[in-house]
Amino acid sequence: MAKQFTVPDEISRVTETLERGGFEAYLVGGCVRDLYRGVPPKDWDITTNAKPEEIQALFPHSFYENDYGTVGVVNEGIPENPNDPKASLRVVEVTPYRKETTYSNFRHPDKVDFDGTLEDDLMRRDFTMNAVAYNITKRRLVDPYGGEKGIERKLIKTVGKPEDRFNEDALRVMRAVRFSAELGFTIEKETMDAVVKFAHRLEKIAAERLRDEFTKIIMSERPMGGIVLLQKTEVLKHVLPELEEGLGCEQNGDHIYHVWEHNLRALQHSADRRWPLHVRVAALLHDVAKPATRKWSDEKKDWTFYGHDVVGGRMSAKMLERLKFPRKFIDDVSLLVRYHLFFSDIEKITLSAVRRIVANVGPELVWDLMNVRACDRIGMGRPKETPYRLRKYHSMIEEAMRAPVSVGMLKLDGAKIMEATGEKPSPRIGWILHTLFEEVLEDPQLNTEEYLLKRTKALAALLPEELRKLGEAGKEKKEEKEQEEVGAIRKKYGVK
Ligand code: ATP
Ligand code: MG
Repeated sequence: MAKQFTVPDEISRVTETLERGGFEAYLVGGCVRDLYRGVPPKDWDITTNAKPEEIQALFPHSFYENDYGTVGVVNEGIPENPNDPKASLRVVEVTPYRKETTYSNFRHPDKVDFDGTLEDDLMRRDFTMNAVAYNITKRRLVDPYGGEKGIERKLIKTVGKPEDRFNEDALRVMRAVRFSAELGFTIEKETMDAVVKFAHRLEKIAAERLRDEFTKIIMSERPMGGIVLLQKTEVLKHVLPELEEGLGCEQNGDHIYHVWEHNLRALQHSADRRWPLHVRVAALLHDVAKPATRKWSDEKKDWTFYGHDVVGGRMSAKMLERLKFPRKFIDDVSLLVRYHLFFSDIEKITLSAVRRIVANVGPELVWDLMNVRACDRIGMGRPKETPYRLRKYHSMIEEAMRAPVSVGMLKLDGAKIMEATGEKPSPRIGWILHTLFEEVLEDPQLNTEEYLLKRTKALAALLPEELRKLGEAGKEKKEEKEQEEVGAIRKKYGVK
């Protein structure tokens, strides 16, 4: 079928090189699907009848990727930087046509042959929308399974009988849901029935593969719909069963949604704001322990959830460990869940409370914690924070994180002063420190041990009354400076 897509030069150069070498070369999989949808592909895959060694011989800057025969061809003109606008063009994956034989363990083919044809290669692919190939030179689409029609109708449908295909590799069950969330496509009826029927087979799938599909659902534009579909298809039980405890779990008076829907709405807000993965997962899990900690209070005539933050932090860590997320990620998410309640009472929040939060989650995560809080609010159906209150929060966090103006900044301390002067511990030491500090505030260049020692000796010779006056003036100056810095932060945020 004739079709014209716009393909970047960096990609067509690779297929042309293969063709000049006497081989066939087609774009295949997700990139063709996305070209068809008019969406920029996330990555580019090429399939060819060249063998791995033959591919490598044509491209000096290439590397052998894995046991599937994939060769990564490097476009050297593009810098190795994930934020580069052309980042997705840097490494082009070129894979020989694969022909798969029997599957006996529900996940890997027993044998992969590289002597197949393009048709064989398309046949082993999961869904019709992913089983379309495109030849750039001939502008020709190869579509033996009706992938084009499927894309037009926004339908997810397996290549061949769904039960056979899920029997071969159960991960495809979860991929169906993932693509539905990512692309906004519907899973076709027969495929859908098989998804439900084969969901339990996910037990046999490596946690890392589940994690990668789960991550793509969370990073999609519609993660809420994705999780709902995971639940309806009974896939969720095999990925994050704890979340299901929130189904039908009624909350206290402030809440209009059950725990399940509240968690999902919080997650969706994080996606609407394009926040990163750890914030999204924390939003999804922040109340995961509510069902486990729920108790009826006769006194309050309402439900209570004491400790759900602490238990939730621990539960989140366990769940993410099971899915083999990296350590740092697990730690970040569980801290966000553990401390998500901190910002809840804005009217009463004090600077020292904010300092405690910063100490608990660390300065890198404190802004993310604010965002998880925003997800929690929106997930409750509450209005957005007023811009003023939000700015006030931000200002308080910055004030709390600022290094205080203190005599600790001096290159000389009380112990050294006593050593140099023979003074005993007394208010005189504080007066000397504050006097020195005032001088250093005026002229930071004076902050050297040598100068300060010299000045200390002169100050120690003063009468107590003189020294007290100097010291108190220094202290006042320090407080002024402190006010000035705090004032500058508040001014920056436009708050009082
Ligand atoms: P994305 O845009 O998310 O990269 P994609 O379709 O490229 O989507 P990948 O996971 O990168 O998805 O896989 C590339 C292609 O490899 C798919 O389009 C599909 O043809 C094939 N494929 C990947 N995983 C499987 C699988 N488990 N079973 C069958 N085919 C698969
Ligand atoms: Mg891909």
